[in-house]
Order: sequence, then C-alpha cells, then structure tokens
Amino acid sequence: MSANKTGTTELPGQTLAEFKQNIPIPAYLMALVVGKIEWREIGPRSRVWAEPTMVDKAAMEFNQTEKMLQIAESICGPYLWGNYDILVLPPSFPFGGMENPTLTYITPTAIAGDGTGLNVIAHEIAHSWTGNLVTHFNFEHFWIKEAFTVFLERKIMGRIYGEPMRQFLAEGGWKDLKDSIEQYGEKNPLTKLHLDLTGLDPTDSFSKVPYEKGSTVIWYWDELYEDSELFDKFIRYFLSKWKFQSITLHNLFETILEFTRKEAPLDVYTKLLNMNTTAWFEEPGLPPYKPEFDSSLSEACVLLAEEWINYDSGNNSVCELTPDNLVPLIPLQKIEFLSLLLQGHPIQEKTISCMDTIYNFSDSGSFHIKFRWLKLGIRSRYKPIVEQVFRFTESQGRIYFNQQLFRDMYDWKEQRVETIETYHRIKNRWMFITRYLVGRELKLFC
Ligand SMILES: [Zn+2]
Repeated sequence: MSANKTGTTELPGQTLAEFKQNIPIPAYLMALVVGKIEWREIGPRSRVWAEPTMVDKAAMEFNQTEKMLQIAESICGPYLWGNYDILVLPPSFPFGGMENPTLTYITPTAIAGDGTGLNVIAHEIAHSWTGNLVTHFNFEHFWIKEAFTVFLERKIMGRIYGEPMRQFLAEGGWKDLKDSIEQYGEKNPLTKLHLDLTGLDPTDSFSKVPYEKGSTVIWYWDELYEDSELFDKFIRYFLSKWKFQSITLHNLFETILEFTRKEAPLDVYTKLLNMNTTAWFEEPGLPPYKPEFDSSLSEACVLLAEEWINYDSGNNSVCELTPDNLVPLIPLQKIEFLSLLLQGHPIQEKTISCMDTIYNFSDSGSFHIKFRWLKLGIRSRYKPIVEQVFRFTESQGRIYFNQQLFRDMYDWKEQRVETIETYHRIKNRWMFITRYLVGRELKLFC
C-alpha cells in the first residue's frame, strides 16, 4: 500500500486493514495489484513483495535497500514516508520501476542475480524525494523529476561502488541520450527538455531524453559548484523549499539562483546567471555541454570492443578468440562492451556466430546483456537470433526492450512479415502502452 498501516480489525470471515498517508501527493497515477504475493523483510523499514517463486530471489537481489536509503537520506534529508517497500510485478509490467510512495513497483527483469538491476532500486528510492516529495507541475515539466532522480541514482551507486562507477553510468547515459536523439531527429521538438505538449499525448514524448538530457543539467550545475557537499546542500534546500508541491522549470531555476547567490562563491553565481537557458531548456538536440567522464571503468570495454572490431575486419574462417578476455569484466562492463559494438558498423554474421559460441550471451540471465546481444544479432542479420528475439519479447512486456527490438526487426526487410505476425500473436501478453508503442514502430496505426 502507498501508505502506512494503522491497524487491522477482524470481522466475520474478513480482515479489515486500514492505512494512512499523511503526505499530500498529486494523484496522477492509480495502481492496484491483485495476486498471490508473499513478503520478505529486507531491512528495518523495508519488505519485498512478490509471487512465491520470485520472492526469495528478489530479497537477495535487493538486500542493499537500507544502505541505499541511508545514502539517499545523507544527500536529500530525512526519508519522511515511513516504510519503503518493493513490489515485484509480473513480467508484463511495461516500465523498469514506478515510484508509488512507500511501495516501489519494479519489473522482474531487474532481477538478474548479477547486480545489473540495482540502479533501478537506487532510482526509485531517489524518487521518494524527487518525484514524490517534490513533483513536476505537469508533463511538460516531467524532465525535472527524472533529471534529479537519475543524478541521485548515480550518486547513490557511486557512494556504494566508487566514483568511477558513477562516471561510468553517466557515460553510458550520455550514449543512450545520443541514440535517443538520433532516433527522434535532432530538430524534433520532443528532444527539448521543456516541452509543449499542446495537442499531443504525453506518451509520445516518453524517451531517454528527459532522463539523460535532464540529468546532464544537474551534472553541469554540480560541476559549476566544484564542491559536491555544497551542491548536496542545494539539493536539500530545493527539496525542503518545495516539499509537498508541484513545480515548474521557472521555480527550479529561481531556486538555484537564490541558493547560489546566498551560499556559493560569486563566480559560480555569475556563471549560473550567464547560463544559456534557451539552449539548455528550450532547444532540441544534444545539450550545449558534454561532461568529460572518467574512463577508468570503460577503458577495458573499449579495448575488448576494438579487439572484436579488428577481428571482424580480418578474414578469419575459424573462431580463434577465447572467452578469457571477457572474464575480468563486471556485468555492467559487459553491457557497455555490447553497447560499443552497437555504435559502429554492423559486424559480420560470422563474427557474431563466433561471439555466440565463445561468450554464450544467448543464455545470459541478465535482461540487459541479452537485450543488447539480440540487438547486435539483428544488426548483423544473424538468422539464429530471430527466434531468440521473439522468445525474449514474448517473455516480458517492458517498453524499453520491446519497442527497440521490434523497431530493429521491422527494419530487417526479410523478417518484416514474420515480425508483424509475431506482434499480433504475442501483443495481448503486454499492457496497453507497450502494445501501442510497439505497434507504432511497426507502422500499424498510420
Ligand atoms: Zn524515474
């Protein structure tokens, strides 16, 4: 329940449970889960709820929840909501997570057993402050809550796994932003931060742009400060000033100017005053500034990707590489390695076949690794991938995965008919929004 329990009363044949939520929050979303669910305790104020087959795995996966909550409190101020629970949804859940107050809904695709889904929990925990305590005024200001939340998510991950991890995740986010803007087209008004949604369905504006372009704004401000403790103090000031309210870009910018004028060195205030707000907030395309990310974790990924690209350009008929070069990489680096290969020219089908044999990504338990592997196979027109793609998209209903995979399959002309047939066969396993967005990729609603 998105509230704290205040008591139960036994009635004949029934139990009446009562809950109370003291914190006001705009009800822009209503969600109800019905099913056979159990819970496990994962911290002094946290339980994880899931179907019986999933609940122990989920408890194991999310055992850092209390630590993340404490880190978030040290940045944002006290957690005011009481309990923080997590509910694992069935595979058809279309999003990574949903920040219902006191009860985060989460996709089961975040549970991989290798830590690749942990940042989703960090993200949803951060929403307890940015998104729930302070909400966006409407969907034209949606980016504000995601900008801070992505920034905080990476800050929490950085406090647990070290600053290079924060930098590594942010660098990956920048690549996602580039891809997303390329997809929309750099002049597309939906790649602006501050949107004009007149006559539009907010669903059509849903992409990585508000998340990644938005978090670049907060990253930029943090860098301007050159003092992360002072910047954390600004975050607490902002949250305390606007708690229980919904805000616009104007409110946010006025608040940072006000805090900076009072608390930060004069040159920071001057730089902030001179910030090209039109370019940052009102213009489409990439932001006017790209951070210099520390590359200590991404270097190994780049080297391995280069090894494969060089191998690809040779004339090898037998697979000569070994799995050894992949072993030292942590799962998030494997994801990055695959993402790098996805950015260059499509690699040859025989090279993909070699990679399939020695790395066996097809059997990866991580949805994020498998997703990128499937995209890579589609790009190289590697036929054995087709069946895996359809099985993967049938097994879950997450927009992020299925929209991209069906888009890529649609572009593979020889597979187009089968792709559309498969969509019609499996679409009813997904929730409406996934059906709609994937159908649009297949040009079915023109
Ligand atoms: Zn979010």
